[in-house]
Amino acid sequence: PAAVELRSVSKEYAVAGHRTPVIVDADLTIHRGEIVGVVGPSGSGKSTLLRLLSGQERPDGGDVLTEGEPLWRGPRQRSPRVPRRGWIMPVFQDPVTSLDPRWPLWRTITEPLVLRGGRLSRSQRRQHAAAALEKVGLGHINVTRTPGSLSVGECQRVAIVRAVIANPGLIVADEPTASLDVEAAANIASFLRALADEGAAVLVVSHDEQRLRSYADRVLRMREGKVT
Ligand code: ADP
Ligand code: ADP
Repeated sequence: PAAVELRSVSKEYAVAGHRTPVIVDADLTIHRGEIVGVVGPSGSGKSTLLRLLSGQERPDGGDVLTEGEPLWRGPRQRSPRVPRRGWIMPVFQDPVTSLDPRWPLWRTITEPLVLRGGRLSRSQRRQHAAAALEKVGLGHINVTRTPGSLSVGECQRVAIVRAVIANPGLIVADEPTASLDVEAAANIASFLRALADEGAAVLVVSHDEQRLRSYADRVLRMREGKVT
């Protein structure tokens, strides 16, 4: 089965008492090894699509499947059923608020490994974190530093490293290169490419269509809640 699939998915929000369609009959399939880009004007539903794919929102109609299994079954199900803990990893647009500014980087970055049940010593966690930082061009940053002491672009890369350290099956990223300079953005693009080549399915929402086209396998356009 595909890593993730949307089948006739719709989503509405109540705005001033009116139910307003935000996602209209969306179909989308992403396979392992594939990077899919999503572009479109502000308000066209890109972030909502991303939240539906990652199980952060429940659809009003249609199905979201991961590895062929529905994420949502009954109306009473409170949280999405993922293939395994940490299988879906969102990379948020604003890394500064998604990272605890006071945690040392080794702890921040390796937390998903520990949540997944890995028994790691402090020195093993430091080694994992240092190796991970190296991969995104931050090998010079000591793992005892905290997100609060880093630039926004550095935090963005730490957030990505943290999201992927436990080998998720699906990575959904909202503007992962937005606050990066050209060189760092190119580094993240090739890093995402390498993760896909290792078997992850990757969805990236971005305003930077030119860059997206340079590393995504295909780029979808959203317009008024429709995927084209
Ligand atoms: P981006 O397009 O950069 O991804 P967002 O998805 O955060 O930005 O927001 C897109 C639009 O959705 C904005 O107009 C924002 O005001 C609106 N929006 C986001 N969250 C909410 C919310 N909880 N309630 C109402 N409007 C929202
Ligand atoms: P994009 O990411 O393309 O900017 P969004 O998915 O953020 O688009 O938003 C699509 C539409 O849904 C916008 O009109 C936005 O205002 C609205 N919206 C987004 N989130 C919410 C929310 N939580 N409550 C109400 N309206 C929302």
